[in-house]
Amino acid sequence: MSAQVIDGKAVAAAVRSEVADGVTQFRAKYGRAPGLVGIQVGDDPASELYQAGKARAADEVGMVSRRITLPDTTSQADLDALIDELNADTSVDGMLVQLPVPAQLSEPLIANRIHPDKDVDGFSPVNLGRLMRGEPGNIPCTPQGVMRLLRDGGVPLEGAHAVVIGRSLIVGKPQSMLLLQTNCTVTVAHSRTRNLAELCRQADILVAAVGQAEMVRADWVRPGAAVIDVGINRTPDGLRGDVAYDEVAEIAGWITPVPGGVGPTTIAYLLSNTLAAAYRRSEIHA
Ligand code: NAD
Repeated sequence: MSAQVIDGKAVAAAVRSEVADGVTQFRAKYGRAPGLVGIQVGDDPASELYQAGKARAADEVGMVSRRITLPDTTSQADLDALIDELNADTSVDGMLVQLPVPAQLSEPLIANRIHPDKDVDGFSPVNLGRLMRGEPGNIPCTPQGVMRLLRDGGVPLEGAHAVVIGRSLIVGKPQSMLLLQTNCTVTVAHSRTRNLAELCRQADILVAAVGQAEMVRADWVRPGAAVIDVGINRTPDGLRGDVAYDEVAEIAGWITPVPGGVGPTTIAYLLSNTLAAAYRRSEIHA
């Protein structure tokens, strides 16, 4: 058996095109384009690349993007002052601070400082709380991308046993909540989980979000299961996911590649969140 490959680039292109249409309608209604600001502290090359990619993607769908790069010695007080300024700026619908940040800065303080309505990463306590409650809000982008890949791939969700490996705030925890909302039975596995391979073999849907190259092997996967690979690992052999793609593709029912799977959908949902945030803010202030 050979798995159906779910093409993340195609899915992301569909989401971006939906957002671009939404931006056109938003402009017609409110006479301005949604605005997204990316803040980067320091000059880490990977962060630089991510920030540039997000800004370009925002411009391509007709949004107004702005990048702010601060020195890596920036204090929490100075970053707070910038966030406050952007919170008050009516042309800004979404903002994000590229993670990780230098050690003198606190990620929780940042997540608490950004106004929840402008927190398009969805990492703030308010947005994570809304997700838990099933209320509208900004939902973290990567888990949203995973749900769309499952949906567009035609993977049955209702009653399926989903195993999520990883319990981060960015991926694992919100992912498990979204799967639960679609009536999956969810198991969250992590670094202290016992008998991980055996547990994974029980999954109808397996989402790997660990950060260990090719950890999920063929004998961890039930034949016919959907395997979604969130991992991004730079190895001497190039970019690898958390899943041993070639061998798992032989037995899975569906699989996402790395690159070209989850990655492209993450940025697409950042744009989608920004458009939704722009609508929510504009409707409140109309
Ligand atoms: P993280 O380091 O915050 O969390 C990793 C999780 O994996 C932890 O919860 C930990 O308990 C679990 N874990 C670690 N070792 C394990 C083991 N041996 N067995 C089982 N579980 C184990 O990472 P994160 O931010 O959630 O990201 C996970 C991966 O996804 C990384 O490779 C990251 O680069 C990638 N990622 C990709 C995207 C994307 O857009 N494609 C977005 C975010 C993260």
